[in-house]
Amino acid sequence: MERRRRGIASGERDIRRAAQALARYLPTRLAPLASIAYNFSWVWHPDGEQLFRDIDAHRWRLCGQNAVRFLQETPEESLNRAAMDESIVARAEYLCEAMEQTLARPAREDGVVTTEQPVAFFCAEFGFHRSMPVYSGGLGVLAGDILKEASDQALPFVGVGLMYRKGYFHQRVDARGWQHEYWYETDPERRACAKVTGNDGRPISIKVPIWDEEVAFHIWRVDVGRSPLFLLDTELPENTPRTRFITSRLYEGNRQVRLAQYAMLGVGGLLALDALQITPSVIHMNEGHPATVTLELVGREMAQGRSFEEASEVVRQRVVFTTHTPVPAGNETYTKDEILAVMPRVLRNLGDDVEAALRLGRINPDDRNESSGMTALAIRMSRSTNAVSRIHGGVSRGMWQPLFPGRAVESVPITHVTNGAHLPSWMTPQMRRLLDRHLPDGWQAPERVTDPATWRAVDKIPDAELWAVSRESSHRMAAWVRSKTVTDRLTRGDTIDYVMQAAQTFDPEVLTLGFARRLASYKRLYLLTHDRDRMLRMLDGPRPLQLLFAGKAHPMDDDGKRMLEQMFSLKSDPRTGRRVAFLEDYDIGLASLLTAGCDVWINLPRPTLEASGTSGIKAAFNATLNLSVLDGWWAEAYDGTNGWAIADNREENHAVQDARDAVALYDLLEREVVPLFYDRDANGIPRGWVARMKACLRTIGPRFCATRMLDDYVRNIYSAR
Ligand SMILES: *Cc1c(COP(=O)(O)O)cnc(C)c1O
Repeated sequence: MERRRRGIASGERDIRRAAQALARYLPTRLAPLASIAYNFSWVWHPDGEQLFRDIDAHRWRLCGQNAVRFLQETPEESLNRAAMDESIVARAEYLCEAMEQTLARPAREDGVVTTEQPVAFFCAEFGFHRSMPVYSGGLGVLAGDILKEASDQALPFVGVGLMYRKGYFHQRVDARGWQHEYWYETDPERRACAKVTGNDGRPISIKVPIWDEEVAFHIWRVDVGRSPLFLLDTELPENTPRTRFITSRLYEGNRQVRLAQYAMLGVGGLLALDALQITPSVIHMNEGHPATVTLELVGREMAQGRSFEEASEVVRQRVVFTTHTPVPAGNETYTKDEILAVMPRVLRNLGDDVEAALRLGRINPDDRNESSGMTALAIRMSRSTNAVSRIHGGVSRGMWQPLFPGRAVESVPITHVTNGAHLPSWMTPQMRRLLDRHLPDGWQAPERVTDPATWRAVDKIPDAELWAVSRESSHRMAAWVRSKTVTDRLTRGDTIDYVMQAAQTFDPEVLTLGFARRLASYKRLYLLTHDRDRMLRMLDGPRPLQLLFAGKAHPMDDDGKRMLEQMFSLKSDPRTGRRVAFLEDYDIGLASLLTAGCDVWINLPRPTLEASGTSGIKAAFNATLNLSVLDGWWAEAYDGTNGWAIADNREENHAVQDARDAVALYDLLEREVVPLFYDRDANGIPRGWVARMKACLRTIGPRFCATRMLDDYVRNIYSAR
């Protein structure tokens, strides 16, 4: 019998078995594809996606780019054809070898972080590919990018999250522009994951006390390169319908269920690590949702005979926290009764007087009427708290100063690590190949990619080559947008005239602006149409503009939904049919298409509400130029040559601020962006524009890649004492 493997190798055997079972259905020569499908490392290999697509493009699309389902469902005929194709077989073998080499590399043991004691990264969502729908947006994509980067750097790292059986909602928009939500089953059996089993060959089953029940859960392992992600799942026959629902929907609307999810993630997550014999050196709470883990840890220390205060101090030495929310409303709080109802036993472990625990979550611990929040708890129970950009650091120190009475705002102990994005996931293979040809060898290696000197060679890339790569992305996007928009409009019941405008005229040579992000009011999508006539004139002028937008409003956020509806009212103007398109159901796949294919990436948050933002970084990796309010990451990146900025003049009166920022946006577009894009040389190349694209790559590549971000975490957060 195979020896049972523990620690971060837990569940490897189960993944391997699942891959072997899948391989049995494939022609022998394609067997390596099964191993590839069960590790998401193909996602950021330059040939990964293309390889699957080349086997059966139609089936690949139908399967939502889910590699496991694709191999299960691809007709034998296509598989046999692929098995006869020497090039496909060789590419599959090559990809499989690359993956095995990645897995075989020795770990980078850095300070406190070792294979025996990895970082345990707790997060409510993880986004690393659209085929594992356990994310909603920026927070999850950041978590996914960190897992990928830890894998690239061979840093011992495990993710802990929940296996949402219904994931996040999908979006459909009707002809009026009103958003509707629907959910469908994640069906983990048909995805690249496997349940972790014990010696008896049965799934490891653990119980966690939530409400007045013992909730059983299983653990799924997902391989993201070298980084395992463990997802907890309560969808088990022995559970009641209520507790099965705990791991059903991401950001569930019912607050009591949401609190149960937080208990599951924090307390359940720690129990899962115990069962897998993983002893983390550092527990990293990404956003406040998993903060319940600290209460469970304190209970354990107290069981060893420590006082509450001593126990808290011991726990604090192991836990670090990243805050992402710059508005108080985003930091949910719960009453004593609510918390007691969900976590009676967790609290009782902390002594007869649950007051001690509740105090940790209040701004004013002595105010018994105040409810308790996850963020305050997380800050108090961590040895380090960081925000996600320099500006956000300042905002967070101001916001949480009341937790540190007697301290000036500047000396509130909250630092920042500015977000980055995982370069190999977000830079198109075409752009990577271009840089392969012109940057020094090994430019993507961790020690090189963050060095500005590595990127100097960008300036030597012939303008025509860079422009050609950018045009190729635009054409690819335009083709997809045309067909998608036709289908979307038909589905909504629009008139055939309006439908056909999308098919005929959406033009890859027209300057294209992209705006895709969560549809929350503070993101101010409406600024684009603040002066409707002026925008319409630009859309249809002699040097026209095109506007692509996408994004989901939270199901309970009617303001966000109305913002979308208002945008749809533009449809009544005949000029917009061929120049404006809304793309439904924004996800990671759409994000990569748009960030690479648009010419300008627009971001208009009301300053200082954008904690960091990351989609603009993804755009910059593809030389898509940012035009953004100077907030979040952009305030650190913008240097006058690498994009455009709207000043972050803060203003109490929102209407005044909106009017002023809208004018600044239109002025920039009319006076700078449009002329620069359309001003071409004899070969049709916009020299001034390409110069900006180069400045964008050269300045943003080294500083906002996830390599720099993870380096900062290792050096300044994980290892610092
Ligand atoms: C990157 C990304 C985000 C976050 O983008 P912001 O700029 O922070 O709004 C949200 N959703 C998806 C699908 C993404 O890929």
